[in-house]
Amino acid sequence: MAATYSNGEWLKHLFTVGRKKDCDKLVKLLNDKYDGKAMLCKNGRSALTLALKAYFEPNDKILVNGFTCFAVYEAIKAAGLQPVFVDISRESLNFTAETLTNAIKNRPEATLEDKNNSASDSYKGKNRQGGVDAGSSNIRGIIVQNTFGIPVDMKKIEEFAKKHDLTIIEDLAHCAGVRYPDGRQAGTVGAATVLSFGKDKSIDTVSGGAVVLRQDAKHDIKAPDKSPKLSDHLRARFYPMWGACCRSLTYIGLGGALMRLLVKARLVERSADNKLDISRRPSKFEARRAYAQIMDLRRTGEPVLREYCFVHDRAELLKKLQKQGYYFGGLWYEKPVSPERYYDMVDFPEEQCPNAVYVSQHIINLPVYCTKHDLKPAVKTISQYLEKGEKSE
Ligand SMILES: *Cc1c(COP(=O)(O)O)cnc(C)c1O
Repeated sequence: MAATYSNGEWLKHLFTVGRKKDCDKLVKLLNDKYDGKAMLCKNGRSALTLALKAYFEPNDKILVNGFTCFAVYEAIKAAGLQPVFVDISRESLNFTAETLTNAIKNRPEATLEDKNNSASDSYKGKNRQGGVDAGSSNIRGIIVQNTFGIPVDMKKIEEFAKKHDLTIIEDLAHCAGVRYPDGRQAGTVGAATVLSFGKDKSIDTVSGGAVVLRQDAKHDIKAPDKSPKLSDHLRARFYPMWGACCRSLTYIGLGGALMRLLVKARLVERSADNKLDISRRPSKFEARRAYAQIMDLRRTGEPVLREYCFVHDRAELLKKLQKQGYYFGGLWYEKPVSPERYYDMVDFPEEQCPNAVYVSQHIINLPVYCTKHDLKPAVKTISQYLEKGEKSE
């Protein structure tokens, strides 16, 4: 993971020259590594949209982790499909064969209950979605995301998919380079493999992504060939520099303020706001950077994308940490589908995903840009807030 851009990495990022041959080299690397046909994309959500368009029919339903980011939901919708959110296990932050089976089993009942409730008008809340209005018959696919780099038990997921005739899409935004318990590499199992090169992802060149079609597509997909917008290109170039500025100011408590200012001035774009566009490719220099990072995966082994733990009273803890000079602006997954400001658009089935709701309320991620030493005072504070049963390190 290169998310930190420490030690002058931002300078390199600013001045890396990319050419067409860098794009070709990256395509070839992805073709070989994931044994398919790769296309470079503007970002991960555009790549996921292309994968979904390639293998599914409009209105097909897709099983998806009930703890994920809005980009995934956005891609499913953009492909004309319907998400079916599945609850996670608190240990792996992923769905399991068990929660998947439950999700499919409970659907007809959910339909009835749902109708009764809305008819009696006593039904508020936002849990009517999840595709509970139809039988499981048109569930056709499943997106495996291996949250934060924690792998699913892929053998079991494959069995489940086979039994229900589902096409598997692997989303490597969190887990490039990770291996499943049976030793296979993430991205070498499903019909298609999706990569994001976005901020804080396991391959991080600020933006960009790729899709690798590993099986024959049902629908023809046009490889993105339009150049990126100049504004997007420049934002990607300068973001690591701004990041470095903010981090140095964090120690005097101004990092967060500067970042908010930069966002306001549109010099920095928040990750979730990166527009979906299936017609554009990434910048060539990003392709070059991504190539180097993917080659590096072999050396660095299996990355854990984010350290996390569950705490009670997260709001209070975050306030305390801020007083200590930590800017935890990068809190991930404060809602089952994050970020919070898009959550209302999702219509998430909270009652069917209690673990996802619990985790989203109690999780805290450690900033990736601090060293262990820098974090010591923070860890001490956090340890006072750990949920019962969790060990502090
Ligand atoms: C961020 C993310 C994506 C999409 O990445 P972008 O490059 O930001 O579009 C896809 N899947 C998951 C699980 C992600 O966290």
